Amino acid sequence: MKALIDRILKEGKCYEGGILKVDKFINHQMDPNLMKQVAVELIRRYASTNINKILTVEASGIAPAIMMGFLLDLPVVFAKKKKPSTMSDMLSTSIFSFTKQREYHVCISKEYLTSDDKVLFVDDFLAYGNAAKGIIDLCNQAGAELVGMGFIIEKAFQNGRKVIEEAGIRCESLAIIDSLDNCEIKIRG
Ligand code: 5GP
Repeated sequence: MKALIDRILKEGKCYEGGILKVDKFINHQMDPNLMKQVAVELIRRYASTNINKILTVEASGIAPAIMMGFLLDLPVVFAKKKKPSTMSDMLSTSIFSFTKQREYHVCISKEYLTSDDKVLFVDDFLAYGNAAKGIIDLCNQAGAELVGMGFIIEKAFQNGRKVIEEAGIRCESLAIIDSLDNCEIKIRG
């Protein structure tokens, strides 16, 4: 997606350990117009599929997810990183965060992810696929069908796509980073 790639090249910043900072338009300050274009493109790619719910993880996945839910008129559910005291019947799993170098738990109420659901998962980044693994686990626990996963940015050198495709799930990403070596952003295409 050209507008996204141009923006990453112009405003993205590399950090040690293969981390890309896109705080100026995705992760902190957000560009709603770019986010809309991201949502439209992901919707186009999954146009032939049958979905009834958009799923994401808080916090950075919520912006693209709500945009897609709005455009498709579908409900959006985000996995929570803290168990609300009011939630009793829930599904939970643990995810290792490589940016924070620690494991955290995420949960979803059983009310909002069920065997009736055909789900499209959306997130800002695909890195090693740990968040994806957790989401696959939650969908399996719920008996929900995970129709596909969509990412704004995929860091191909961290191989997260393998985790998703080996689970037999379709994976789409709008900008594929081949390398961040020497703090140089190399984007495919
Ligand atoms: P994974 O679970 O695929 O290893 O990593 C994906 C999650 O970690 C995403 O939800 C994202 O928030 C965070 N993440 C991974 N790599 C990066 C990165 O280079 N930059 C930023 N800002 N977040 C990242």
